Amino acid sequence: MSQLIDGFGRRFSYLRLSVTDVCNFRCEYCLPNGYQGNPKGFLGHDEIRRLVTAFAELATWKIRLTGGEPTVRKDFADIVRTVRAVPGVKRIAMTSNAFRLARDAAELKAAGMDAINISLDGLDAAHFERITGDKRFEKVMAGIDACLEQDFDAVKINTVLLKGLNDDQLPDFFEFVRERPLSVRFIELMRTGTNGEYFEKRHVGGDLVREQLAQAGWAPIEREAAAGPAVEYAHPDYAGRIGLIAPYAPGFCDTCNRLRVTARGGLRLCLFGNGAHNLRPLLQDDDQKEELKASVLTALFGKRVSHFLHEGDYGDTPHLAMTGG
Ligand code: SAM
Repeated sequence: MSQLIDGFGRRFSYLRLSVTDVCNFRCEYCLPNGYQGNPKGFLGHDEIRRLVTAFAELATWKIRLTGGEPTVRKDFADIVRTVRAVPGVKRIAMTSNAFRLARDAAELKAAGMDAINISLDGLDAAHFERITGDKRFEKVMAGIDACLEQDFDAVKINTVLLKGLNDDQLPDFFEFVRERPLSVRFIELMRTGTNGEYFEKRHVGGDLVREQLAQAGWAPIEREAAAGPAVEYAHPDYAGRIGLIAPYAPGFCDTCNRLRVTARGGLRLCLFGNGAHNLRPLLQDDDQKEELKASVLTALFGKRVSHFLHEGDYGDTPHLAMTGG
């Protein structure tokens, strides 16, 4: 079987597929003015099936469905079923703001979803609304509880660290996982094409988290070979874990194993890269599969060794909702 291996020997077994770029939240660091695009023309079921089939035949076994907010698509559970039916797909995960998960968690589990990452940037209604522009804190919390009840393989919380907005809540987040068997991962705010000023004002380095974890008795745990970008910490008195994703740390890209496809079929080789390879013309017929696979393999030669954020090259992603964060 051909495999997706780039010029630096990295193997890509993980596809993050955006199913819509529409988002119903207005997170200050991502879509402060809300969704401004044209909410039409996203990949349909047959296109998704053909795309995932081609990737699976190139040894991709993990698919993450993301957005925008994936659950705003009314056919989202059907998309999960479509992906689940593709031979070779071993794990399906999603990233969501959870506003709809109190209602949908059971259906998504039944459709074949294995794991869920939920974004939660504040641990009370005031912090939450200040950052997301949304009043549905309680609904999101109910969504998290619903996911825990469904016994997914993993429920993880993503929290973007923001100076002056939630960096006072680290102890609350630690407390949040005392009884809950989930992992909270703090993500350093990333610079994108449009958030320069915001980044300067709000970016906090991961050291803040490392220091507070050490003071509170948390210890880093050994990373598995196939682990994602988070360094995780455990504490004997807590059911859950705390993680840190620090994209500015040296070597962050060395273990990159993921590719992204936008909601309109553009293959993006890096979150901070430029341009997308339009795969959509090759998603129109089952007979195009070999051509599609060859196109992805060729595109992969263009993947750079790392992002170049340190050199001020943020790529052309205006915000992560566009690319599928
Ligand atoms: N709507 C879904 C959600 O809320 O999780 C999925 C899409 S969202 C773009 C995916 C993740 O990207 C969220 O956890 C969000 O906090 C994160 N994100 C967006 N912009 C970011 C930035 N500039 N830096 C770090 N994380 C960011």
